[in-house]
Amino acid sequence: MKDSTQIPFVDLIAPHSELREELLAVFERALETASFVGGSMVESFERDFAQYCDTRHCVGVANGTDALRLALMAVGVAPGDAVVTVPNTFIATAEAISQTGACPEFVDIDERTYNMDSMKLQEYLEIQCDVDQATGRRFTKTTRRPVTAVVPVHLYGQVADMDPILEIAERYHLFVIEDACQAHGAEYFSNKEKCWRKAGSMGHAAAFSFYPGKNLGACGEAGAVTTNDGKLTQKVRMLRDHGQSRQYYHDVEGFNSRLDAIQAGILNSKLKHLSEWNSKRRQNALQYSELLAPASDNILIPYEPSWSKAIYHLYVIRCANRDALQSSLAAAKIGTKIHYPVAIHLQEAYRGLGYKPGDFPIAERVAPEILSLPMHPYLDFEQQTRVAQAVLEFTAGMNASKNRSQTLSASA
Ligand SMILES: *Cc1c(COP(=O)(O)O)cnc(C)c1O
Repeated sequence: MKDSTQIPFVDLIAPHSELREELLAVFERALETASFVGGSMVESFERDFAQYCDTRHCVGVANGTDALRLALMAVGVAPGDAVVTVPNTFIATAEAISQTGACPEFVDIDERTYNMDSMKLQEYLEIQCDVDQATGRRFTKTTRRPVTAVVPVHLYGQVADMDPILEIAERYHLFVIEDACQAHGAEYFSNKEKCWRKAGSMGHAAAFSFYPGKNLGACGEAGAVTTNDGKLTQKVRMLRDHGQSRQYYHDVEGFNSRLDAIQAGILNSKLKHLSEWNSKRRQNALQYSELLAPASDNILIPYEPSWSKAIYHLYVIRCANRDALQSSLAAAKIGTKIHYPVAIHLQEAYRGLGYKPGDFPIAERVAPEILSLPMHPYLDFEQQTRVAQAVLEFTAGMNASKNRSQTLSASA
């Protein structure tokens, strides 16, 4: 008989029942000491997460979007600036830019990795910008905005190709803020440094989200900024806490974006398991890729360059008949999602930026074809086999109808 239990897209129950006692102890400790905001649990998580990311500093904040926005503000991105990112990302990347008062500008992605194409970044700076001869800084040709920062996104848990991005940023005087919200623990082999580097340790600063579904997730909302720069650390610390340098002395106008002590305690408990969870995800990805190999005519599996150790926040395949594939998996009780169905420059919210279809052809070409399969550390071999079987059955159907139409046109 066919197994007909639901295979969920993500399992947030299993890790929490496994760590139940530890997590409850965190809550008890917070109750006993009444430390709910800031305090030793936040400090100890900041220390441990910085160490995990190979950075000198980490500042806990309220969520990943704030982490990006406060990092951008801390490096000095100002209203009226232009900040470059990619159109294939979660909307928060662009919101963080526009909410500093800067204007998000986009460059297209690499078709194989779905991450920023450094050649496109270079082209953008050379072709769509003018140079100020005195300072060497770039301005957008049409709106005369100074281009001050770039936000590469480590999408799906794979680091963007950072060597060329960092080199271009240095050449054109741009700050680099990594959007590492999907990439806790992902690694990148830098040919320039001749070593593996952790996501979040390469730019001037980086943003992490600990939204429950991320590889390291809180039991609520949380985020963090990592950096090696002590001055930036101080600025982010001030910005997250009403701009105060000490209590009730407000040097700048800030925000309330502090990290909850309970969330920090929970994150620190889970951080001890992150490496193991990430390697389980990598194993599962490898397993999927082997199981799906027979469908290679119709299904593109994720591409992991030799310089990348991805942590598979998502396992994203590509198929020309994506919507039909998704329905057929749903009928087989397999949960899937789409990350993301509409590129940012074509979202209603950013209509005011004036982009049109065709502006970023690669992001637009992949959006209707990508599909995220179930992926989490507790996914077992049987479940993966069932998912792969359902995909293979669907592609067999695709091939049969292709052959049919070929036979028909040959006989016509
Ligand atoms: C999750 C995510 C964010 C935002 O994080 P929140 O904690 O939800 O604010 C930003 N960028 C990317 C790529 C994300 O996946």
